[in-house]
Amino acid sequence: MTEQSAARTAIVTVDDDPGVSRAVARDLRRKYGERYRIVRAESGAAGLDALREMKLRGDRVAVILADYRMPEMNGIEFLERAMDVYPAARRALLTAYADTGAAIDAINVVDLDYYLLKPWDPPEEKLYPVVDSLLESWLADDYRPVPETKIVGHRWSARSSQVREFLARNQVPYRWYSSEDLEGQRLLEAAGADGMRLPLVITPDGAALVEPSDLELANRVGLATTPSEAFYDLIVVGGGPAGLGAAVYGASEGLRTVLVERTATGGQAGQSSRIENYLGFPDGVSGTQLTDRARRQAAKFGAELLTTREVVGLEVSGSARLVKFADGSSVGAHTVILATGVSYRHLTMPGVAELTGRGVFYGSALTEATSCAHHDVYIVGGANSAGQAAVYLAKTAKSVTMLVRGPALERSMSHYLVQQVAGMPNITVRNCTDVMAAHGTDHLERLTLRDSRTGVKETVDAQWLFVFIGAAPLTDWLDGVVQRDERGFVLAGPDLLTAYTRSSERPRLVPSGWPLDRPPYHLETSVPGVFVAGDVRAESAKRVASAVGEGAMAVMLVHRYMEKL
Ligand SMILES: Cc1cc2nc3c(=O)[nH]c(=O)nc-3n(C[C@H](O)[C@H](O)[C@H](O)COP(=O)(O)OP(=O)(O)OC[C@H]3O[C@@H](n4cnc5c(N)ncnc54)[C@H](O)[C@@H]3O)c2cc1C
Repeated sequence: MTEQSAARTAIVTVDDDPGVSRAVARDLRRKYGERYRIVRAESGAAGLDALREMKLRGDRVAVILADYRMPEMNGIEFLERAMDVYPAARRALLTAYADTGAAIDAINVVDLDYYLLKPWDPPEEKLYPVVDSLLESWLADDYRPVPETKIVGHRWSARSSQVREFLARNQVPYRWYSSEDLEGQRLLEAAGADGMRLPLVITPDGAALVEPSDLELANRVGLATTPSEAFYDLIVVGGGPAGLGAAVYGASEGLRTVLVERTATGGQAGQSSRIENYLGFPDGVSGTQLTDRARRQAAKFGAELLTTREVVGLEVSGSARLVKFADGSSVGAHTVILATGVSYRHLTMPGVAELTGRGVFYGSALTEATSCAHHDVYIVGGANSAGQAAVYLAKTAKSVTMLVRGPALERSMSHYLVQQVAGMPNITVRNCTDVMAAHGTDHLERLTLRDSRTGVKETVDAQWLFVFIGAAPLTDWLDGVVQRDERGFVLAGPDLLTAYTRSSERPRLVPSGWPLDRPPYHLETSVPGVFVAGDVRAESAKRVASAVGEGAMAVMLVHRYMEKL
């Protein structure tokens, strides 16, 4: 990092006591003032304003120090909100001795890096070593130049919304401009684009791309898309929690590991607004945060992470396993872990397909939330993912109506979420309700609903519909290579034996065609050396924790397999 770029990087300190605030800033300036800008604020709200301003200017923030005891917004609340603006900044809490309990709790809530006890004199002993180490870890792991990708799009253009979601899920910072606003029109004009084909994406180096494909975007914004080697120890297919878990364990244990993801790492979990049942996060964690950390962790250990590369085939060639891409190229490895999860099931009613991305969305609640603020929103589905989206969207939407096929939410949703839904006054739950059709010309305008108890149909005005009606594995590309159950889930270990013993007259110890004299390992598929982890596995638990756990366990079995190669 150059001195010039460091000059725009800030260390931010927030304390409501003006004397203390000045003293912290003075001590910080003394040691770091030449290389970093020291920004101080005297309340959480003022601190957030300063962070937002810096964000707009494209400044970097390396470290944020906050006092714990502040009126209106305490230090933990401030740091939690600061993370939304600068997720990579290192965070420390200043506490009095009596508040160390709160600081320890904060380690879970805001993933606190340190807590400092007041007073911090002498700073050489108590303050600087901590700040040095925070800066060091920020520089080592998280220093990434902030690119300013601009998207000019229209809120009812399906591709505009896909591009936004693609960049957001890949943690690529972007700024959105509506093609109807003056600034958007200026950018279109500057790029010589007529606005008929949207979005226009302007990359940080000034290239203007009209309606770019995901692959084109990935290449332009610096995401890796091509394997650097022809052969690896382990190829992980899918970058959700299971795949990321496998990549972290594989790479950290010395396996040459490449992860191949068709869109953006994070999988379904990356689309969850708040995961409340993942071990170690008693106050919940957003899926984006959790999976972004996992991605960085995998990269830190040396795993190669490829995005926008869809795997379309698997071939066995002697002891090599070849994974094939749509463009005909392939990459080989000793072992493969399939972690392709499940994909949202689509509504098949008339009008829905045509309006997808133009008011009808699958799992895009996080990226579209700002666009539908103050509007009436409909959600189809009655399971946890629908409940999470309802609670999340209800914070900004005027109203949220949940359209549920069953007679009661309690049948399909976790108790804690049913309670959260019930506690939001602007959420209405309509049980026994089916969506019959979607209507609109260039975007969703109305929905036809039917009460399944009475058969009565009704048409309602609706501009926003989010669909969460379950998911299915998309595993046809494994046909004829890897055994799957009747719904497409991949069979492994003992489930393979069950599948075969059921259909054969005499019980067999191994699946047919199995070439080894040992039975498949627990997560091993019908092809030796090809393992499966997470939601795509038959009989899997469909939870983040189990997906991560299976990713780790599959790596342990990879080692066992490779020892006997
Ligand atoms: C909105 C929502 C909220 C949720 N909330 C919770 C919760 O609070 N707690 C909880 O425990 N669970 C929750 N879940 C479930 C949890 O997210 C999943 O169980 C978990 O993500 C499964 O992980 P996975 O890695 O097996 O699969 P996925 O997360 O589905 O990831 C699979 C990845 O593989 C990629 N892929 C698929 N096919 C290919 C291919 N051919 N080539 C390359 N890449 C491919 C996909 O793009 C995807 O990124 C939620 C799910 C949703 C949708």
